[in-house]
Amino acid sequence: MSKKVEVLGVEFENATQKEMVDCIKDRIKQNKKTFIVTANPEIVMHAQRDPEYKNTLRSADFIVPDGIGIIMGAKMLKKPLQERIAGFDLMSDLLGVANEERLNVFFLGSRENVIEQAIANVKRDYPHVQICGFHHGYFQGNDPRVAEMVKTSNPDLVFVALGFPRQEKWIRTYLDTFEKGIFMGVGGSFDVLAGAVKRAPSIWRRLNLEWLYRLIKQPSRWKRMAFLPLFILKVAGTKRSR
Ligand code: UDP
Repeated sequence: MSKKVEVLGVEFENATQKEMVDCIKDRIKQNKKTFIVTANPEIVMHAQRDPEYKNTLRSADFIVPDGIGIIMGAKMLKKPLQERIAGFDLMSDLLGVANEERLNVFFLGSRENVIEQAIANVKRDYPHVQICGFHHGYFQGNDPRVAEMVKTSNPDLVFVALGFPRQEKWIRTYLDTFEKGIFMGVGGSFDVLAGAVKRAPSIWRRLNLEWLYRLIKQPSRWKRMAFLPLFILKVAGTKRSR
């Protein structure tokens, strides 16, 4: 896994979702600590304004392109990426791996009722996953007791759903204190796991219109979507200046 594509200073893995899952599987076997970021245009734009966040992204082992905007940006730069890897899809595949291999998984983040429902659904859909712990995401700042709780549960995989940039910063702050584990920021994925938010039907996803579906279902997200044209303009700007 050495092919990377840079978009606005963020280095994306140029891999298929399957290659990514196989690579993470190997790293679990080798006990290699791993930090995965699933980055969309909003995250890339945020990194332009927040140097601490940019450094956090630089410290990640893998950044995968989550969102059609990143795929479009890479294409505009004539460095096409193989495919979009949605955070929820990667998390689902890793839960599948955890189910096969009976791995320990910790779930950190989202509202209390959401995480409880998500855990119930994981127990139903992935019965062999060893749920070594979970905690909601509304704790004070970087409360060290939460990290301690995650550590003592001895997880192989830690999914962190605190929203960006908090989830990546949380991982970066504590990663050094862990001996092993795959750590991944998953944004609103527990809401989907819990059934509180619906994923776009597959036809919308195949047509790369998941963003439009989310906008229709959650119109309050329009401000966040407004990042997409800004991102494309910025990519076009770097293309011209090259
Ligand atoms: N969240 C959290 N703690 C916080 C802020 C957010 O646990 O302090 C959770 C929130 O409940 C939601 C997730 O983080 O489950 C982020 O959701 P959002 O839709 O903002 O994420 P996206 O997928 O768009 O990055």
